[in-house]
Amino acid sequence: ERSGTAPGRKRARLTVLAGPTAVGKGTVARHIRENYPDVLLSVSATTRAPRPGEIDGVDYYFVEDAEFDRLIAEHELLEWAKVHNSHRYGTPRGPIERALADGRSVLLEIDLQGARQVRAAMPEAVLVFLAPPSWDELVRRLIGRGTESQEEQHRRLATAKVELASQDEFDARVVNGTVAEAAREVVELMQVRARRPRRA
Ligand code: 5GP
Repeated sequence: ERSGTAPGRKRARLTVLAGPTAVGKGTVARHIRENYPDVLLSVSATTRAPRPGEIDGVDYYFVEDAEFDRLIAEHELLEWAKVHNSHRYGTPRGPIERALADGRSVLLEIDLQGARQVRAAMPEAVLVFLAPPSWDELVRRLIGRGTESQEEQHRRLATAKVELASQDEFDARVVNGTVAEAAREVVELMQVRARRPRRA
């Protein structure tokens, strides 16, 4: 018997959560990992160094450049991208294929470039755009977390402007007002909703 599987539940699906810098994708994804054990949150590989408190194999697989090159060459990544012009990030393909084959729902928290690659590779994936309540709030969150230099903040806000203009490529939009509410909406989209046709 599989636990937690309600009768009539839709087939397993791959969901991508993307959105601009500082909107809170990581926080929403972490909330889902901690509160919705039925959802498998994909662990990405990255060439960036761990931040204090981050755990290898939980937050990311922290790898050297040469190892990342190997993952690309051996087609072990479903998608990968250079994010914010610095480090490379990619989604390992194997765990996702195994989870979907086991009937589990999988969530990827990746950037917009990656979301587009997933759309191309797996057209049945559901793309969710996490949006800030407002532009001013996005700016406040980016400055408030204080992890980037002023130059880097400007660069990320420029990228965010472009990304906010890409929302129509997505199947659904969730506003990140509070983390718990946004997480609940994302999970609801994963389990219940039938996919809507793409807007042109
Ligand atoms: P951070 O370094 O702050 O953890 O993440 C920076 C950015 O990389 C975030 O926008 C996050 O969504 C993105 N990212 C994390 N993992 C992946 C991945 O596997 N693929 C892609 N394309 N982007 C990722």
